[in-house]
Amino acid sequence: MLFFHTSKIVEFLYLWGMLKKVLVTGGAGYIGSHTVVELFNAGYEPVLLDDFRNSNESVIDGLSNILGDRPELLKHDVCNTDYLRDYIRKHEVCGIIHFAAYKAVGESVENPLRYYQNNVEGLVSILKMVSENPEIPFVFSSSCTVYGEPQGQKEVSEKTPKTIPTSPYGFTKWLGEKIIDDLFFSQKKLRLMSLRYFNPIGAHSSTQIGELPIGKPNNLLPFITQTAAGLHEKLTIFGDSYPTIDGTCVRDYIHVVDLAEAHVKALDYLINAKDGCHEIVNIGTGNGSSVLQVVNTFEKVNDIKLNYEFGPNRPGDVIEIYANVDYAKKLLGWSAKKTINDAVKDAWNWEKSIRSIK
Ligand code: UDP
Repeated sequence: MLFFHTSKIVEFLYLWGMLKKVLVTGGAGYIGSHTVVELFNAGYEPVLLDDFRNSNESVIDGLSNILGDRPELLKHDVCNTDYLRDYIRKHEVCGIIHFAAYKAVGESVENPLRYYQNNVEGLVSILKMVSENPEIPFVFSSSCTVYGEPQGQKEVSEKTPKTIPTSPYGFTKWLGEKIIDDLFFSQKKLRLMSLRYFNPIGAHSSTQIGELPIGKPNNLLPFITQTAAGLHEKLTIFGDSYPTIDGTCVRDYIHVVDLAEAHVKALDYLINAKDGCHEIVNIGTGNGSSVLQVVNTFEKVNDIKLNYEFGPNRPGDVIEIYANVDYAKKLLGWSAKKTINDAVKDAWNWEKSIRSIK
């Protein structure tokens, strides 16, 4: 029973291949499902905790096709602490990766309580399990949104000061890191990591899993692929006169499979960590691309013409930001391998496969 493990015993069992279950909350979501695959490839046994409130059960079929077997699925709300406590008591869980959260900026402005309830309550609930089982390492999905609009230098490192985000969504990530900091302060043996994602795009090259937005997509890449597939008449590029290379906003777009691998490295690191920590790590490529560059790359790589127009700025958009990735390399030995060309190709192949386009 995990209650009686010290971290030494956990490490020993892990080394002997007896302790590999990793609880992945939100494991049926976009980043969660890709992380499930990479965990499996690395020899872990991913266990998905997802109630499908914001994902589709067909993801499990896609995962089964890639893994060759159905992954263990716990169809429960992450706030169901009684269930989680009982599960962890009965199983050897060697890590928790927490993805389960809402992520649409605009929706969070319209319905803030929905976001605070799901994102903050969900995090507190899962952290209670970590607090009660301090030998279990924990990885949190944070976001570069905690930097706000970078002043001066557009490349942000983990030392760049945080800014309180304007949207409730962004604030749940800012607050999430603070909650984890406070918990670590009270329990110095915990091994915790917050990964600050930049902009994940792309899909698994098998076309078995990818992004499945519910309703009209807010994010750039799914809007591009859906427009190319004929679901929308055109893409609107929000703003063309920003002080950037071509007037459109700049982001650090990272292939979702690279991002998924970073989670495996994060877990490996924490499992082997001798001391408690709350590490904070940027996960991006280190390169910025403008919206127009992404559109042009999509057209070129996939040999397809995209219908687009320029529209007004989107309120709240950061103008330009990209990651300094030195710390990810130093701490985790991780850096992104795939290119933006790979990502737009995989994203389009995924869109074509779900729309049965040849
Ligand atoms: N964007 C756009 N049209 C769209 C969706 C997004 O021009 O239909 C732009 C958006 O203004 C931003 C960039 O694409 O400059 C990335 O937006 P996304 O919502 O994907 O990510 P985030 O804003 O969270 O970085």
